[in-house]
Amino acid sequence: MSKSLQAIRGMNDILPEQTPLWRYFEGTVARLLDNYGYKQIRMPIVEFTELFKRSIREVTDIVETEMYTLEDRNGDCLTLRPEGTAACVRAVLEHGITGGGQVQKLWYIGPMFRHERPQKGRYRQFHQIGLEVFNLDGPDIDAELITMTWRLWGELGIRDAVKLELNSLGTSESRGRYREALVEYLSAHHDKLDEDSQRRLKTNPLRVLDTKNADTQAVLVDAPKMADYLDDESRAHFEGLKARLDAVGIPYVLNPKLVRGLDYYSKTVFEWVTDKLGAQGTVCAGGRYDGLVEQMGGKPTTGVGFAMGIERLVLMLETLEQIPEEISRQVDVYLCAFGEEAELAGLALAERVRDQLPNLRLQVNAGAGSFKSQFKKADKSGALYALILGDDEMAQQVVGFKPLRGQGEQQSIAWDALAAHLATCVVQG
Ligand code: ATP
Ligand code: MG
Repeated sequence: MSKSLQAIRGMNDILPEQTPLWRYFEGTVARLLDNYGYKQIRMPIVEFTELFKRSIREVTDIVETEMYTLEDRNGDCLTLRPEGTAACVRAVLEHGITGGGQVQKLWYIGPMFRHERPQKGRYRQFHQIGLEVFNLDGPDIDAELITMTWRLWGELGIRDAVKLELNSLGTSESRGRYREALVEYLSAHHDKLDEDSQRRLKTNPLRVLDTKNADTQAVLVDAPKMADYLDDESRAHFEGLKARLDAVGIPYVLNPKLVRGLDYYSKTVFEWVTDKLGAQGTVCAGGRYDGLVEQMGGKPTTGVGFAMGIERLVLMLETLEQIPEEISRQVDVYLCAFGEEAELAGLALAERVRDQLPNLRLQVNAGAGSFKSQFKKADKSGALYALILGDDEMAQQVVGFKPLRGQGEQQSIAWDALAAHLATCVVQG
């Protein structure tokens, strides 16, 4: 096939058979966030490259190798957003909605772009639902974020398949002291580190903790521990968070090696991970970034947030077969009309029913067809009932009401009584 008729590698179409599950997932999250009092914000997908360089810093994987950057016709350097936090901070600062300590609890949804090696659970255009809270600095809000995701896993039926990993990175001062100690230790073992880690030792040494290389992992066993460098405030914050998770009964594992790819985190960091998706096991990740807003040029404003990968969570629902039955059925009632006159009457009847039952999923067979072929379509649609309008029904001003899933015999229903009848037999969501 010619290249112009192929999607870009790592950028996927979400086909009609997949969208019901996406919409179910997105709808479940949106309702939950509404209920907890979070408000949606929508940012552009493209920003000045400088924004991401300033917020994510040059030394992370994202800025080093993953950004889709282009020059537009004015010569401006633009980047397709690789994540949402930077744009969200830019937006709240630009509109002054976090000024004077105003609390904002925001969420967003949409595509993100990273030039990574495409594989299962890792794409170049992928989708996130993200959330950012500004000007609340206590551990109670960190706990709320985690509690909310815990509830979500419960509602989706995947709670048993995810695990919460938790760490505290301390304030930037205590992390700075730890970084120094780590660099000193790792430099003394420089030759035993893998090449990637040798490079990271110079650019972003905490990321070395995250290595998958066995030799480097062996070196790390005796490395200084972040927990020993935590300042009192961060320690108290972390204890406060753990106490709240314990109170709600949310299990977690402490992972001192959890440092997160992005450079701007402080204090709490967490990841929800699963072993059901192979190598791409992180489904939701986040943490506190109290210094970021100031680093980007705003007044000191605390922040905490997370982002979840929609593709990975949809994959989880499929893998664990947690797909609610009702989303696979998209039609309640299917109307078949035979003959020109019946078609016109059917159209009018369908509109009358829709007036009275706006949530009813009523599909009208478009185009002519034999009795048999229309019936086949009705059955294939997954509808619970077929409505039949032929010459006999026209003469008597009734409609044939035929259960398609073996729930009883066909009956005749008067046109005037149709909506009331449907209301009693179709459960509407
Ligand atoms: P990873 O370690 O898997 O690369 P990350 O730390 O780069 O993840 P974040 O920037 O924290 O990821 O993004 C939050 C979530 O977005 C991830 O936990 C994951 O679920 C999802 N995600 C990140 N990158 C991709 C991608 N390329 N394709 C699909 N989902 C992704
Ligand atoms: Mg990544």
